[in-house]
Amino acid sequence: MANPSLKIENARYILTVDAERRIVRDGSILIEDGRIRRVGKASELSGAPADRVIDARQLVVTPGFLNGHMHISYAHPVRGIFPDDMGSPLDHVFNLQAAMTEEEEYKASLLGVLELVKNGTVCFLDPGSTKFPDACLQAYADAGIRVITGECVTDLEGRLTLPRYSAKEATDRTASFIEKWHGRLEGRIHAWAMPFSPETCSADLLRSLKRVADEHGTGLTLHHGSGPQARKDYQARHGRRPTEYLESIGVVGPNVLLAHALGLDEAEIECVARTRTAVVMCPITAAKGARGVPEHGRMPELLAKGVKIALGSDSPNNSNHLDIVRSMNMAAIQYKDARQDMRQIPAETALEMATRLGAEALGLGDELGSIEPGKKADLVLFDTQRPEWQALFNPVNNLVYNADGRSVHTVIIDGRVVVDAYRQWFVDEGRLFAAVQEIGERLQARTGITFPRSRWPMV
Ligand SMILES: [Zn+2]
Repeated sequence: MANPSLKIENARYILTVDAERRIVRDGSILIEDGRIRRVGKASELSGAPADRVIDARQLVVTPGFLNGHMHISYAHPVRGIFPDDMGSPLDHVFNLQAAMTEEEEYKASLLGVLELVKNGTVCFLDPGSTKFPDACLQAYADAGIRVITGECVTDLEGRLTLPRYSAKEATDRTASFIEKWHGRLEGRIHAWAMPFSPETCSADLLRSLKRVADEHGTGLTLHHGSGPQARKDYQARHGRRPTEYLESIGVVGPNVLLAHALGLDEAEIECVARTRTAVVMCPITAAKGARGVPEHGRMPELLAKGVKIALGSDSPNNSNHLDIVRSMNMAAIQYKDARQDMRQIPAETALEMATRLGAEALGLGDELGSIEPGKKADLVLFDTQRPEWQALFNPVNNLVYNADGRSVHTVIIDGRVVVDAYRQWFVDEGRLFAAVQEIGERLQARTGITFPRSRWPMV
């Protein structure tokens, strides 16, 4: 479908994140048929006409952001209910998830998508949390966002309330899901295999899901972690480290995305790098979840070995927000503190993980992640007429250390303006907020999973 052409004119800065990482001052971008046609100095593009021209004199343009691990669905209606002093809410999380109705999940997902796009995310990966993909498709279609989706499957008994099938059924379901969903919404939907974790899935299931992903030319993602205790357990059970176990059953490679990947040791980092397996890390979840980044976070070592890393926010009850600009900030600052070394994870590296490198990790590097002719026109325009953007000399530092998603002014996906000068038209925000609040009340009443509304007296 032909889209009207669009020109972003006289941008204060364009952070292209192209091969040379050029930052264009006073730049323009011409978009035709949903793709970037030209990028350059405004003077070079001055004669190029377009159906619509956006005056970007006070705007900084970046590639659209990718969020490589975000459980949409249950969390928005009950966001913030878990008090800090209860510790891990994981058992409750899956029980709440299991209790969602189709209508509830649709509205919660619409709110999730709204928060994502308004903070500049153009593509997110839901690791199979969605129970009612048919209903949620409408939310994705309305918002115009890109989604990597799938069906979460397991085949081993476990403590958590996760969808459990026989290995054969889980494999068949995954194959049919991919066949039904992959490529829909003009290619904005990608469908992957999504086993929950190596602890909840048998080797047979993981192997056959990898085969399904390979045969369909898509990807596979799963939760993965290591650490001294996990290495001991895996050594006893499989005679190797957790990451080496995945390699031994063939569940590694460029189309495999390991989520979190905390606690890897040198041999495991080597294994990830050697097999060109991709990783998504969730810096805010790691920090808020007390996951011990100083001890277990290996982002600098993985990057040094050339591993493709995307950033993720995890569920809105893990990070509590879906703002990848804040995730960039956390990635850039938490390793400085953890290693007591300010040179760790420079601002530029954080931006790369949210854009170019993240797109490569998600297998979308040919289409997304940088502002270059031929790529999809997925862009974020930041408003510099705000106090936090002053003074502006180094736009990458300002973006990663000063700003957050609230200065996202305009978002373009596939050449379509999805957020236009802070406004969107795909949903009535006030009505949606009220509906989701009500869903949260109902969900807590129905499941009995509820907590005092504050540790302080509410009068
Ligand atoms: Zn997860």
